[in-house]
Amino acid sequence: MHTQDYIELDERYSAHNYHPLDVVISSADGVWVYDVDGKKYLDCLSAYSAVNQGHCHPRIVRAMAEQMHKVTLTSRAFRNDQMGPFLKQLCELTGYDKALPMNTGAEAVETAIKMARKWGYQVKGVADNSAEIIVCSGNFHGRTTTIVGFSSEPQYKADFGPFAPGFVMIPYGDVVALEAAITPNTVGFMVEPIQGEGGVVVPPDGYLRAAKDVCERHNVLFIADEIQTGLGRTGKLLACEHEAVRPDILVLGKALSGGFYPVSAVVADEPVLGLLKPGDHGSTFGGNPLGSAVAQAALHVLIDENLFENSAELGSYFKGRLQRIESDVIKEVRGKGLFIGMELHEPARRYCEALRERGILCKETHKTVIRFAPPLVITKEQVDWAVDHIEAVLI
Ligand SMILES: *Cc1c(COP(=O)(O)O)cnc(C)c1O
Repeated sequence: MHTQDYIELDERYSAHNYHPLDVVISSADGVWVYDVDGKKYLDCLSAYSAVNQGHCHPRIVRAMAEQMHKVTLTSRAFRNDQMGPFLKQLCELTGYDKALPMNTGAEAVETAIKMARKWGYQVKGVADNSAEIIVCSGNFHGRTTTIVGFSSEPQYKADFGPFAPGFVMIPYGDVVALEAAITPNTVGFMVEPIQGEGGVVVPPDGYLRAAKDVCERHNVLFIADEIQTGLGRTGKLLACEHEAVRPDILVLGKALSGGFYPVSAVVADEPVLGLLKPGDHGSTFGGNPLGSAVAQAALHVLIDENLFENSAELGSYFKGRLQRIESDVIKEVRGKGLFIGMELHEPARRYCEALRERGILCKETHKTVIRFAPPLVITKEQVDWAVDHIEAVLI
């Protein structure tokens, strides 16, 4: 079968809920992916930052292969010997008391919403069924009906209603709006430290710190969705660390498994996660031994290979080189670490297609933004090679 045959199968049998670039990947290694014709591409999307550790990292391959021969799923009806060590490692790394493992990012966000509400009713004393959570315009927190209900993107919601109440939207980056939106019923403020799907939108300096202070003053939980920004993507373990903010609830996913297997988690202290009682919440696959073994290896790789530092260093190098490209098409280059957005004055799709021709895979977001987010194992030589091609398609 050839590229066109695979594309025809997708088009015939898959619901058309994506508009992918027409590259059919059949293998990958580190920063590289290979299509069915053997052509090699530099991956500048990293599966939306799920493969921060690089594709098919040998250490994670080994952990997964070893675990899959032992036991893969027990359900939480019984205990397994992988979940405890995984959660201990995650809590020690992030500096929290407890973690609750789930699978996809959206599930972890749903879990964080449930936790914030339970805390609101049981600790803050909000009246039954009146809890409010403040979210930001331009947000992306996943695709469940509750979550799309508080999206500001009309397409994400169209014909999927009715939606759950209890969410209040304010502009992103606006602390005054946050303080004004808080009522006695506000239990949480949920925010992405940098909006990923929104177009790699970096808020004003000091925003996260100021927002956290407002939340503290009003007894509101600061919920950071670091599913995309976390685990080294912005040059630190968590993007909130850039402003020394410690979220009350931290939501992780994507790179938590290095792209092998869906693993997500909500991380918080005892006063929040300690509120759950048996039966309050659950997931058949959440905390399973296979995912837990994979996640332990994925976290070890991030630390042992100094991937936060590499992201910080090569990210500012990459961004600097992109900012020096002289092209009338470029409106702005922004980002932190290896999380870089290049906003154009025109639709970006054409440039992504041109880059694919040259062996670089990236995807437009919000029509006019190209996101450059390669695996964090990328080298300076590879960045230079990529920038030469990016420059060539833009000038
Ligand atoms: C990807 C993403 C999600 C959703 O994760 P899924 O695994 O696709 O459900 C939520 N929040 C942010 C910030 C994301 O980037």
